[in-house]
Amino acid sequence: MRWKTEDTPERKAFREGFREWLSTKVPKGWMEAIDSSDDEAFKKASESFNFMSWARVIGSSGYAAPLWPKEFGGLSGEVWTQQIVREELARYRLPLFGLNLLGVGLVGPTLIEHGSEEQKSRYLAKILTGEEIWCQLFSEPGSGSDLASLATRAVRDGDEWVINGQKVWTSIAQFSKFGMLLARTDPELEKHEGLTYFVLDMSSPGVEIRPLVQLTGSAEFNEVYLTDVRVPDENRVGPVGDGWRAARTTLMNERVTLSGISLDAASITGGARKDPFESMIAGISDRQDGLVRQRVAQLFAEQEAKEITAFRASMARLAGQQPGPEGGVNKVFNAELNQRRSNFLMDAAGLSSIAWDPNDRTGQARAHTFLRARANTIEGGTSEVLKNQMAERILGLPRDVDPGQGLAWKDTKRN
Ligand SMILES: Cc1cc2nc3c(=O)[nH]c(=O)nc-3n(C[C@H](O)[C@H](O)[C@H](O)COP(=O)(O)OP(=O)(O)OC[C@H]3O[C@@H](n4cnc5c(N)ncnc54)[C@H](O)[C@@H]3O)c2cc1C
Repeated sequence: MRWKTEDTPERKAFREGFREWLSTKVPKGWMEAIDSSDDEAFKKASESFNFMSWARVIGSSGYAAPLWPKEFGGLSGEVWTQQIVREELARYRLPLFGLNLLGVGLVGPTLIEHGSEEQKSRYLAKILTGEEIWCQLFSEPGSGSDLASLATRAVRDGDEWVINGQKVWTSIAQFSKFGMLLARTDPELEKHEGLTYFVLDMSSPGVEIRPLVQLTGSAEFNEVYLTDVRVPDENRVGPVGDGWRAARTTLMNERVTLSGISLDAASITGGARKDPFESMIAGISDRQDGLVRQRVAQLFAEQEAKEITAFRASMARLAGQQPGPEGGVNKVFNAELNQRRSNFLMDAAGLSSIAWDPNDRTGQARAHTFLRARANTIEGGTSEVLKNQMAERILGLPRDVDPGQGLAWKDTKRN
């Protein structure tokens, strides 16, 4: 990318070291095929690649989370190490997270900042290797955007907590070993103050997972009912009543995670994929049409703007800043860009975007991506709510009115 600076000698050495490591882990000919744009050779090389075990391979190498401390499976690296790893993985069409996107992107940073030493030792390494998948038990039927109003109760009973309530939209709960659970421990306090953060073992008695089928036909998320679920106090993350602080770390990292990926499910969960823009152009038959060319150029410019903004945000983190409300800027832009891109792909495909041969996997994938993209502006905080936050926290505009402000949670009006 033209706007990127040249690698310093230190960064160049790191990049070369990582490439060398990659070359010992992917099938012979894989990287050469990509370097020489030989699609046939790449297809052949990728036949013998096991995506299921890839999470284990990269997860135990340190490269999956270069910023995490070495003792917990990372490299104790600086921000540029992560940048380089992501660039190289994208270049060589390799997935980073496997199914454990939420574990690596959200849980890890939260436990590193708020967890006890025992919790870090117990959970972090297995998040990276994908041995233990995690989900996020935050949203409830009456509490999504206004998350702090949530009603799931945790009541202390000796060394345990008893949890009752309902969560919803819980992605990948059906595959998860653990969930990050936000629950109300004191209804007498103002809504943000009476919350506590727990690690929930999803196999505990009283946890019931019911799949919810989406527009795409897949059941990616679930309802999770919690009935007298017992959670040991050692699973509490941070002090009682301080759950909102840990939840904010999770949410800020969620925005960064969702703004840093292509929001294309296949690129998250595995599968050798070209750069989404490259695949997009390759799939358009009518490339001579002036209007088509204009829209491609517009999307290309937007994609570049997104990359530059993400690069600047990671440079800010290089200067020691934690992800802040500006993470929302990229999340909103990335989500909306993804929708514009999938809308364009449907337009460019003409009639084959609504009817395709059952064996046409491209037609199927295009329709799936288009439908799935509707969720991008909702998941991880809606665009409307994130724009409110930008207005308040970045632009300094007056705060949105909160009728419950200053009241005990039990006295507030809720859905
Ligand atoms: C695909 C997908 C996966 C998800 N995965 C998870 C998960 O794993 N774990 C989890 O906990 N949650 C998950 N969610 C839930 C997600 O975080 C919520 O859907 C989101 O925060 C919005 O909450 P809500 O659905 O309750 O909508 P509501 O909060 O009821 O919002 C409804 C509408 O009102 C608007 N609105 C609300 N408040 C304001 C305001 N103050 N100003 C302006 N407009 C406002 C919203 O923008 C939206 O358009 C997922 C959602 C999706 C779509």
